[in-house]
Amino acid sequence: MIEIIFFRRSALTLLLLAILVAPALPQSKETAKTAPVTDTLRAGTTAAPPGVRDERLWQRALKLQRSAIVVDSHNDILSFMFDENYDIGVSSVGKYHTDIARMKEGGLSAEFFSVYVDRSYAEKGGAARRAMDLIDSVYRAAEKHPDDLLMSYSVADIRRAKKAKRIAALMGIEGGHAIENSLPALRDFYRLGVRYMTLTHNNTNGWADACCDKALHNGLSDFGKEVVREMNRIGMLVDISHVSDKTMSDVLDTSTAPVIASHSSARALASRPRNIPDDLLRRIAKNGGVVMINFYPIFIDQKAIDASAARDVRLKPQRDALNEGFKNDPKRREEELDKLNAANPLPPTPLSVLVDHFDHVAKIAGIDHVGIGSDFDGVPYLPEGMKDIAQLPNLTYELLRRGYSEGDVRKVLGENFLRAFAAAERVAARSSSGGQVSRDGSVRRIEDGKK
Ligand SMILES: [Zn+2]
Repeated sequence: MIEIIFFRRSALTLLLLAILVAPALPQSKETAKTAPVTDTLRAGTTAAPPGVRDERLWQRALKLQRSAIVVDSHNDILSFMFDENYDIGVSSVGKYHTDIARMKEGGLSAEFFSVYVDRSYAEKGGAARRAMDLIDSVYRAAEKHPDDLLMSYSVADIRRAKKAKRIAALMGIEGGHAIENSLPALRDFYRLGVRYMTLTHNNTNGWADACCDKALHNGLSDFGKEVVREMNRIGMLVDISHVSDKTMSDVLDTSTAPVIASHSSARALASRPRNIPDDLLRRIAKNGGVVMINFYPIFIDQKAIDASAARDVRLKPQRDALNEGFKNDPKRREEELDKLNAANPLPPTPLSVLVDHFDHVAKIAGIDHVGIGSDFDGVPYLPEGMKDIAQLPNLTYELLRRGYSEGDVRKVLGENFLRAFAAAERVAARSSSGGQVSRDGSVRRIEDGKK
């Protein structure tokens, strides 16, 4: 089955990215149906409706949220920041899931802006340039909002930002084709501040097989293993979201540092190829890594997955007609396809379904190996009570309500991620890089047509 994001992102050109990602907008206008953000936190209409919610527990959750380090390892707002020149200092309630005011409302301490490079760049060229364009937008936002955002590159930076009451801004590349098959380019991205790389998006690249594409390398190729070792050496976290199971397994055999899955959920609860099966969850625990849970209903809610598949079949004739009718007008085509989806909504996903994924990973891998990887602004809709980044405290409330201790909730909110990140920093500090990122690094790259 084609992943929805893959479908949305697959055919884009640089120009079309803005147009085609925009279809998320009519659907994410679902956010407009929720209470204004300030009301959400004060009145808490979500995790438990007023009257049902335990007010003392809610106050405990809010206090905890404000004192804890809260890390979100995957947010796609950056594509809008660049393509639509969106300023995250301006409220986008009802349009996007993320702006600075709502990040603060949600108690967020650190955001990884996703430097998402569509697969089309792997085919037509310009992948590294696309990544550099996006990276500039993160710096631009931090420079424009120095009281709110602090460019951050390390665990120490994140803790410093928290003390300074600012949000740590970090970057992860999504789609390893961004390095254009070059270890020198990988190191340059590290210098630009990138601190994790998702080895693939849904597309298999020149050295790693993806979840949702042809397997060309039986997991990681030799060069792919070298990419992982180089990431370990320089201190860039290896992200195994979106890769195939075999790639994940190869990464776990190769990496000497803890890995992350920046936005993945549990396959035992929701059957999607990009989710992680229990045997690999156990291996990630052994590796010291962290699975950062993705919030998207179509990745976490089996009922939504089944309903979506049934809808695909039901609407196929209409979709085919729209695809044909607007084949020369992709913007209009996407608008019409979105209208069709909006007229045929999927059943809402309760917050409890999302929290079940945290529970499951905590049960199988352990409480030390689970965290938050929202995918906000990369997905068209979200579970009830988690409609935008301001609603993160609802997760904390629900974890406390389920009996997790405050210490364990802190681990989930951010300390697990920081532990893995710190371990990766130590591996790099002990390596030959020793602050000189290139000196002993391999200059290997794959030239066109060669392996
Ligand atoms: Zn993704």
